[in-house]
Amino acid sequence: MSKPLVQVVPIRPRPAELFIQLLGESGFSEAREQAVRLTRRLNGRRIWNINSTAAGGGVAEMLHTLLAYARGFGVDTRWLVISGSPEFFRVTKRLHNALHGERGDGSRLDGTAHEIYDEVTAANAAELEHVIDSDDIVILHDPQTAGLIPYLSRRGIGAFWRCHIGMDEPSAEASAAWKFLAPYLTEARAFVFSRFAYLPDELYHGRCLISAPSIDPFSPKNQLMDDVTARAILRHIDVIAETGNNASRHFTRSDGSIATVNRRADIVREGPPPAASAPLVVQVSRWDRLKDPVGVLRGFCRAISLGAPSDAALVLAGPSVKAVADDPEGGEVFEEVVQCWRALPREQRRRVHLVNLPMDDLQENAAMVNALQRYATTVVQKSLREGFGLTVTEAMWKGKPVIASAVGGIQDQIEHGVSGLLLKRPADLDAYAGSIVQVLNNPGLAARLGENARRRVMKNYLGLRIVSNYDDLVERLEHDQPEPHTDVVGDTV
Ligand code: UDP
Repeated sequence: MSKPLVQVVPIRPRPAELFIQLLGESGFSEAREQAVRLTRRLNGRRIWNINSTAAGGGVAEMLHTLLAYARGFGVDTRWLVISGSPEFFRVTKRLHNALHGERGDGSRLDGTAHEIYDEVTAANAAELEHVIDSDDIVILHDPQTAGLIPYLSRRGIGAFWRCHIGMDEPSAEASAAWKFLAPYLTEARAFVFSRFAYLPDELYHGRCLISAPSIDPFSPKNQLMDDVTARAILRHIDVIAETGNNASRHFTRSDGSIATVNRRADIVREGPPPAASAPLVVQVSRWDRLKDPVGVLRGFCRAISLGAPSDAALVLAGPSVKAVADDPEGGEVFEEVVQCWRALPREQRRRVHLVNLPMDDLQENAAMVNALQRYATTVVQKSLREGFGLTVTEAMWKGKPVIASAVGGIQDQIEHGVSGLLLKRPADLDAYAGSIVQVLNNPGLAARLGENARRRVMKNYLGLRIVSNYDDLVERLEHDQPEPHTDVVGDTV
């Protein structure tokens, strides 16, 4: 028998009570009351989340962490991942790029693309028949799963579509993507977007909710990690040179057990790793052109010539290119970065480290990202487009000065000059290089930006509100005629 297309991702409940130390008793009891109300409302029904990868990228990251707290509160929420052919993921990556206003591989979103998309969708939908009950509730994430809406709706299942992508201005590419998606979306009970500006005109008719993504402060990605441990982890994965300490490389898994970082990273570099004392400029992201890894590299080289400290190094890190199932361009993009790196003068080449992090154990991978973000002198996110940059929030939570493009949700995340530095024109390498020099040469500024950043995340982007947001969705289902307005909610994933 062939392997099923639809896979259940196990969710291990986490005690939401962990948040008491951050929210205080009263903030927490509010969340607990919401959970009780939601469970009553659900009355045995389950909430399914469906996306197309269990690993890599912001959506998988949020589902892994925030669903666990909902389960900890006793809310029956589950997670399924669909599968598709490489052609299917070419089409959905094309849609992803188009929703960001980009051409991607330039392929046509035509009848053939619909056929590829529909065929994979139908095969996945057939399997869902045996898994999802007709009174369950389903939240579908991003273009990969939008095609399932009509199948679910035909069975009377309340289906919501959560779009994590978007752009502030309309564009021809985005319109083409919306035209492609429109026939699948009509029967969704409501849509959830990260920013108000992302709502396309077509959907602006009272069935939209706005919700900013949030992070889990206790996950292996974001949990407290002292300097010595971060350094030991980075030493072990060969990102930095010998430190002379043999501290343990431990982290706490989501189930509370203590684990050790044992795997190693795959690194493209020339010469030795940076000394443990060298200032590090770090970007962590998928190997995606919209994250502008080539720009990060070129701009860093310009910063060297503009007066960045003589030992500063750039670490560009991402998931191992073999690992992310729904991102067919990863390997290609990494190759482009390597080509660009090879073309650098030797002195610059020696200061750039291209790091592929192993993805075999996601929590171990997360601990590596945690160590990188904590150890960084500055974290950059030079995206050309961004729905909402989780990596930005993660670095801000760690008190890092973040230099990021003023695109998409990042404009909400960072207040320029207060909780980070925004690059007005993401393609302006001089401005980017100048910001790196400014932050690396000015520890006082770096510290102030970092402190404000952490405070901002504490106030706005830590998620336990998943429960109240699910409650909003369920309430919506109970009203046949939705109110003609757009709600702003918190952290629905
Ligand atoms: N990420 C990770 N391991 C990696 C590279 C990235 O866990 O090797 C995570 C990163 O920490 C963040 C997510 O992937 O949590 C990326 O989310 P973001 O919103 O920044 O970008 P997206 O990939 O969704 O476009």
